Amino acid sequence: MKTATETVNEVLGRRLSAVEAVRTALDEVERRDEGLGAFVSIDRDGALRDAAHVDGLVAKGGERLPLAGLAVALKDNMSTKRGTTSCGSRMLADYRAPYDCHVAERLQAAGAIIIGKTNMDEFAMGSSTESSAFKVTRNPWDSARVPGGSSGGSAVAVATGMVPAALGSDTGGSIRQPASFTGVVGVKPTYGRVSRYGLVAYGSSLDQIGPFARTAEDAALLLSVISGHDERDSTSVDHPVDDLLGQLERPIEGTRIGIPQEYFGEGLDSEVRSAVNDAIGLLEEKGARIVEIELEHMKYGIACYYIIATAEASSNLARYDGVHYGHRTAKPEDVIDLYSASREEGFGSEVKRRIMLGTYVLSSGYYDAYYLRALKVRTLLRRDFTRAFEEVDVIAGPVAPSTAFGIGEKLNDPLAMYLADVYTISVNLAGIPAVSIPCGFDGKGLPIGLQLMGPAFSEGRLLGLAHQYQLLTDFHNRTPTCVQ
Ligand code: GLN
Repeated sequence: MKTATETVNEVLGRRLSAVEAVRTALDEVERRDEGLGAFVSIDRDGALRDAAHVDGLVAKGGERLPLAGLAVALKDNMSTKRGTTSCGSRMLADYRAPYDCHVAERLQAAGAIIIGKTNMDEFAMGSSTESSAFKVTRNPWDSARVPGGSSGGSAVAVATGMVPAALGSDTGGSIRQPASFTGVVGVKPTYGRVSRYGLVAYGSSLDQIGPFARTAEDAALLLSVISGHDERDSTSVDHPVDDLLGQLERPIEGTRIGIPQEYFGEGLDSEVRSAVNDAIGLLEEKGARIVEIELEHMKYGIACYYIIATAEASSNLARYDGVHYGHRTAKPEDVIDLYSASREEGFGSEVKRRIMLGTYVLSSGYYDAYYLRALKVRTLLRRDFTRAFEEVDVIAGPVAPSTAFGIGEKLNDPLAMYLADVYTISVNLAGIPAVSIPCGFDGKGLPIGLQLMGPAFSEGRLLGLAHQYQLLTDFHNRTPTCVQ
């Protein structure tokens, strides 16, 4: 399996054509995806046409194409003019976006080729990719298990080498947790680092797009292309984009790593705990300084997140009324019936649950008790991180309390599903960046992820540390048996 960096170098060095690279990816999808269900749509003809175009640019000396010939996949909540943008929902099953999202434009301008769109939990609400209206995506390390979610399709596409890299979105862990469950690298950038223009909104103050790849180096390459200011997203930050690749060589020595006790408490699986501790031990051996820290308000993270995220979701999803977008019921009795029947038929049960929760916490009489209070807790949590980053450069911990769970295991117990997000959601509430990297396997052979969190705009530092860790370990080089 070639990395993204190797592929691009070969294409720019004319040892491989973009058409060949894309054809290989398309063939891999055809060969492997039937049993896994990572993709919801493939654009074979369009991708091969785009690849031929990139080959033409390379022939003319395309040195300004940092992703030349790279086949990529996008989570299906990123709008693309070509094909559908379904968000894993019946509501948008046939929806064709009239424009390309910002990240699709950036990728294409850099010479990458979008080969298809990947499966996800409906409207990105979930942690298992089981709530997609179309199919369940399976974990390639054990097909009876979930790949994590909500960006499970993108994670599986990369873990199996169908594509060297893909994009997902992370509102409360949806890049990092599936990266951890499938043994790949996933990055949730600083809020505002990557434009959300054309990303179908779930929780707008939390949503952020980021890359999946097998190496930190590849993730840095992709992130440097999609980062930067975009005036079409009012929350996109006008902050210079660091040289992410240039920071990969930064030594581990001297890095101050904070270990929050809250990340190692009750409920953490013992094999995950020991793999994460081993990873931290290795970093310490290489000269990192380990500092115990406290994130006092983390215990309120889940409650706070599930109020804010659902409140924002209930507002964002009000637009699906059967008139403007997506599914419309066949024979409405009147206009109210048009709205309610279209929504009843178009949305799945998890989405409906979130809309009801969100509407409730925003309703008059409950707004102060729930929504407003959650906003205050969010500020406290944010302050915990600010204070911690006065003492340390990076915070390390697990990504998820367990390895991949079984398909169906938590489906009828939404609270158990929400509780499993305990280590990822605080990062979104605080708006800071975090990376998930493979750091071991449990006794069943399932991957375990290490989470590295940093202050706003510290992506370079996080990816540098991740890269140095990957130079010392080979967890990221193992491939699922179904691929060998
Ligand atoms: N599991 C979380 C949720 O269901 C996070 C999802 C995400 O990051 N999109 O809301």
